[in-house]
Amino acid sequence: MKKERLLHEGKAKKVFLTEDANFVIQEFKDDATAFNNKKKGSIVNKGVVNNAISCKLFPYLQENGVPTHFVEKLSDRDMLCKYLDIIKIEVVVRNVAAGSLVRRYGFSEGAVLDDPIIELYLKDDDLDDPLMNEHHAIALGLASYSEIEILQAYAARINSLLKEFFAQRKLRLVDFKLEFGRHGEEILLGDEISPDTCRFWDLDTGEKMDKDRFRFDLGGVEDAYAEVRHRVLGED
Ligand code: UDP
Repeated sequence: MKKERLLHEGKAKKVFLTEDANFVIQEFKDDATAFNNKKKGSIVNKGVVNNAISCKLFPYLQENGVPTHFVEKLSDRDMLCKYLDIIKIEVVVRNVAAGSLVRRYGFSEGAVLDDPIIELYLKDDDLDDPLMNEHHAIALGLASYSEIEILQAYAARINSLLKEFFAQRKLRLVDFKLEFGRHGEEILLGDEISPDTCRFWDLDTGEKMDKDRFRFDLGGVEDAYAEVRHRVLGED
């Protein structure tokens, strides 16, 4: 399958149409942004690392009953995916307080949440991705109530699977963001799962191993991404 035409260029990936309307190719870039594009830069080799990590995690979820858009890894930076009509809802799952949960509600960073918190955000950069609930999503015509229930059920299942997966690799899954889309009658998990979209803290030292190192200029960004890849793939 070859790239035919650029369909969409996002902050971290390009999406290309292929000769078959059912499939697209995601190309992972090194570009990094934070705070809704206010901070821009690049992380050397990030595209290669995030593609490798995603290409391990999507099949793992798929094998455990979560339908995803992943088809196969084509090259270092390219992933073949099923075409998705993206649902403009970002689903965030949190196990430990960090980021906007701390800023918005006053949790202490690192506070363990007895039950995971699932949040919905409107996927709209012009509006700064506002937090919303299912009533907003339905009123905006983004999804039906039953579809939102499906997204939340998948998000909870993905969280259980990923928490366990990362714990075995000495990483604490603090929080993460998911995107879903429609492919025919099906709802599939889309986008990527990587240190760009998840917070990981080293299980023993608590060291941040994700995009927070770029967001807050903590240094060692490339090394942290490479270490996550190493632990996820168990090689190199
Ligand atoms: N996240 C993301 N894309 C976004 C917003 C958030 O991938 O547009 C991820 C982020 O990396 C973190 C989780 O979702 O793992 C929760 O992010 P939070 O709401 O705390 O936002 P932040 O503090 O990063 O602005």
